[in-house]
Amino acid sequence: MRRTIMRIEDSKVVGALQELGIQLRPGTRLSELTSLGIGGTTDRLLIKNHEAIPDLLNLLDSQGIPHRFLGGGSNLLVGDGELPWVVLQLVSSQPDIVLEGNFAKVDAAADLGRTVTYCAKNDLGGMEGLIGVPGTVGGALRMNAGAYGMQIGTYVREVKLYRSAARKIETLRGDQISFEYRHTSFAPDDMMLAVKLELPSKPYPEILKGIRICNEKRRASQPLGQKSAGCIFKNPPGASSGRMIDELGLKGLNVGDARVSDRHANFFVNAGKASAKDMLALISAVRQRVEKSFGLILEFEVVLWNA
Ligand SMILES: Cc1cc2nc3c(=O)[nH]c(=O)nc-3n(C[C@H](O)[C@H](O)[C@H](O)COP(=O)(O)OP(=O)(O)OC[C@H]3O[C@@H](n4cnc5c(N)ncnc54)[C@H](O)[C@@H]3O)c2cc1C
Repeated sequence: MRRTIMRIEDSKVVGALQELGIQLRPGTRLSELTSLGIGGTTDRLLIKNHEAIPDLLNLLDSQGIPHRFLGGGSNLLVGDGELPWVVLQLVSSQPDIVLEGNFAKVDAAADLGRTVTYCAKNDLGGMEGLIGVPGTVGGALRMNAGAYGMQIGTYVREVKLYRSAARKIETLRGDQISFEYRHTSFAPDDMMLAVKLELPSKPYPEILKGIRICNEKRRASQPLGQKSAGCIFKNPPGASSGRMIDELGLKGLNVGDARVSDRHANFFVNAGKASAKDMLALISAVRQRVEKSFGLILEFEVVLWNA
């Protein structure tokens, strides 16, 4: 199959990006920016100033340049080779976390783990379960990241975002957004820019205790030293994808260097030089086995980009 290559070479477009203050990083290897260590090459556009986003997206649309939003790359399986879109990535402003009483205003580009610990040190808890979830706050909002019985959506009071429908930057109240299990009501082309969280007051030592418990649970059950994207499949209602895969004896199954983790059957790791093609073949094989044995079609938790 012939694949379209998307590179920004037109000097007028390059000049317009410069005027908007957007940094162009041509030929970025996404394998270097994803936790799976998989992904082909494309141009990356770095955005410092949120206000430039509407003009940037108008420019890309008018030039027929498709785009994707990249956060920390920890929940992505990106295709191999030359990719048919560019990626947009936010650059964190400084300071990227501002506290006011029980509210934390956080930039979408901020690191999620650092946000949890910064808030904790200021006696704001609730997010202990998110410790160890890699990536950015924007990615966590989009995915409604959660673990150990909590999810980020519970604490969201406001989100500043670029809304694709209105083609402008708006602020939504938390109660205007639905946060479900690894799913949110944002439109696919909405871009999270900042969030206001309301967090319960708790003394730091108590939060730290919770953080240590969650860290311990992760260490005991997940292949933390290996390249992965966390859980590949969502859990179907009342069932555990990992348990089903484990019961089928599929831990250790591999296609090339793509492997079902020996530690956690819903984590698939890149044990060397796995390609997206290898990983996808492994995912399909496991999905088919689960469907055949349990009659369930597993839904993806990982986001597939041209894989
Ligand atoms: C070891 C490991 C453990 C993990 N454990 C958990 C866990 O316990 N719970 C959990 O929920 N997840 C877990 N994950 C998955 C992942 O870390 C989360 O989904 C994380 O929130 C993704 O954030 P990111 O910034 O890396 O997003 P990316 O992977 O970059 O992107 C994910 C999706 O969000 C979109 N996106 C990213 N930023 C923005 C933005 N600013 N605006 C609009 N869309 C955006 C992307 O377009 C893409 O669709 C784990 C991953 C790993 C590698």
